Amino acid sequence: MNKQLNQRMQIAIDMPRQVDEEVAGDIEKESVFVSPAIDRIIVAEDGKTATVVLQDRRDVEAVMDKAARFLDVMAKQVSGYEIKVFSESVRKDEGPYQKDVNQGLVERGWVHDYGSGQVAYNGPVLKLAQLINEKAAELYAREFKAADGHFPAMIDADTLHKCGYFDSHPNAVTFVGNMIEDFDAIEEFRVANSCSEGAHMPHRDHVHIDGMCLNPAACFPAYPTLKGKRYETGECFTWMGRVFRYESRNISGLDRLYEFNVRELVFVGSEDYVSDVRNRSVPLVSELAAFFDMDCKLQTATDPFFATVSAAKKFWQAAQEVKNEIKIPVLDAEGQVKTIACGSINLHGNFFGERFDIRDTDEKPAMTGCVGLGIERWVLAAFTHHGFEPDRWPEEVRNRIFD
Ligand code: AMP
Ligand code: ZN
Repeated sequence: MNKQLNQRMQIAIDMPRQVDEEVAGDIEKESVFVSPAIDRIIVAEDGKTATVVLQDRRDVEAVMDKAARFLDVMAKQVSGYEIKVFSESVRKDEGPYQKDVNQGLVERGWVHDYGSGQVAYNGPVLKLAQLINEKAAELYAREFKAADGHFPAMIDADTLHKCGYFDSHPNAVTFVGNMIEDFDAIEEFRVANSCSEGAHMPHRDHVHIDGMCLNPAACFPAYPTLKGKRYETGECFTWMGRVFRYESRNISGLDRLYEFNVRELVFVGSEDYVSDVRNRSVPLVSELAAFFDMDCKLQTATDPFFATVSAAKKFWQAAQEVKNEIKIPVLDAEGQVKTIACGSINLHGNFFGERFDIRDTDEKPAMTGCVGLGIERWVLAAFTHHGFEPDRWPEEVRNRIFD
């Protein structure tokens, strides 16, 4: 380890092995979960060293040891998997991509950013979000006879555990805490807040966390409701899910929220049925992109797993080609084009079928798959494609979202 402390509390560290741009990006993003003392870890352009930006100087040795162990597991990640593109759509609008969309929406009063990864919206943003949701639901009903449903925003820890979430994304979970059912503790909390300027949180010992969580993936609450089902062919379900992912300091505008909305499609049944729905959902993505006149690619991808399991799980996902992402271009803060995942198509094999006792008529665990569309990211991408003036928007969309 090559330590170099300067005034800005940055320490240079050698990478255990050289990494490429893709892995470097993952390292920077996931580094917010390494230590409360670390602001961020930035990999140098050559991929051979990294800079650990510290928030305080306490226990520097122990903190740097943690950073080294984090880099060790992250650098094992294999990157540069061959990317397969399944479909590509090109927009008709010839105008430039709009810069600073998040800021522009806030300035117009259409979005209120609470600054904590939560947003409120109204006017054209709300109408567009509703239209994206409605249009997707309509396509799923037309193509798969998927009926609309509703699921809760909270989910119990046992279900999340069964879904494998604690094993793959333990950093993203939000636990719900409640006051203990204790007269004195509740009164103490009330008194502390009755005339105070700011909010006072209850004493740690007075809060219990009994396993209720905020749901971090739209499809999870569906599986317990399918327990005991036996499928000869299969069935599709669709709904708008409220999703929560603790993104720590990575939150940013409409693209990286703590709380967001996902139009979900879940398909369950035989191997043939699930693979047929997956294949038929590919042209639907293009149809949705064409309706909003957007550039879009559907391609193979991997999830951002927690550091210690990232290399192995990404490798497995890429090898099996079980995750495809809907990639749509937007502009970054410097006005450079980057793509964001506005949705994903996922195949789960018989994982949920086995865990939740969903089977085929031969008692074999059923296959499942899902499509999740991140509504706020579609909104951001659509405004990037057509700007704030109504005339560049496709007529049908324009008539629905602008007064
Ligand atoms: P996933 O199940 O991880 O593929 O997520 C489904 C979709 O949700 C993604 O393709 C994104 O469009 C959207 N999404 C994921 N994380 C966020 C986030 N932090 N903020 C806004 N949208 C998100
Ligand atoms: Zn899903």
